[in-house]
Amino acid sequence: MTERIEQIRARMAAAAGRAGRDVGDILLLGVTKTVVPELVDEALQAGIGTFGENKIQEAKAKIPLVSSRARWHFIGHLQSNKARDAVQLFDVIHSVDSVKLAEEIDKWAERAGKTQPVLLEVNLAGEASKHGMKPEDVPAALERIQQLARLEVRGLMTVPPYAEEAEKVRPYFRQLRELRDQLGLRELSMGMSHDFEMAIEEGATIIRVGSALFGERKKHEPAD
Ligand SMILES: *Cc1c(COP(=O)(O)O)cnc(C)c1O
Repeated sequence: MTERIEQIRARMAAAAGRAGRDVGDILLLGVTKTVVPELVDEALQAGIGTFGENKIQEAKAKIPLVSSRARWHFIGHLQSNKARDAVQLFDVIHSVDSVKLAEEIDKWAERAGKTQPVLLEVNLAGEASKHGMKPEDVPAALERIQQLARLEVRGLMTVPPYAEEAEKVRPYFRQLRELRDQLGLRELSMGMSHDFEMAIEEGATIIRVGSALFGERKKHEPAD
């Protein structure tokens, strides 16, 4: 585990260097879907402090079994009826894809006496199989969501289309950064095991890395 983490940190540093960026500005989020709590604790011991889960049910079962020092981000599709759990369990919710969902999160954050940091999920390629707002809908949605007292919009997140040839994904990363800059936000959650270096070159501030840290998952695991 320590060796894998060191390798990933070295690749992050090299990518940041190529882009003239400080690697300290980039969060390595360890994606722990299907990973047992013991292994999450091992990663925590080895220096990963923040983890990502994509299913509320799995997170609810797992988080209490991991050291309370771990921080958690939600990265999967969130249904409105699970907003309450998400607010209780997660420091940051990456997957706000509608004003309606934002309002639901705001309601539960208020009841919990908390301000909930969130990212807006953007579906850049318009893929029907993926969640997220259309890029052209983001500015208006952001304006409404920023009026919600208990939500703090920190940035944008995307899961770009899969491409055999990694370079084909670069324009999507670039597009998300341009949208983020246009909106004056800070965080860019983009890049996974196979393309996090390119995402860093294009400005990612949070990379979501699962299999490169914890090993390949079983096939037929849905993306979220
Ligand atoms: C599973 C998942 C990841 C991590 O994918 P890897 O290829 O295993 O690094 C990142 N983001 C989301 C939204 C995911 O569901």
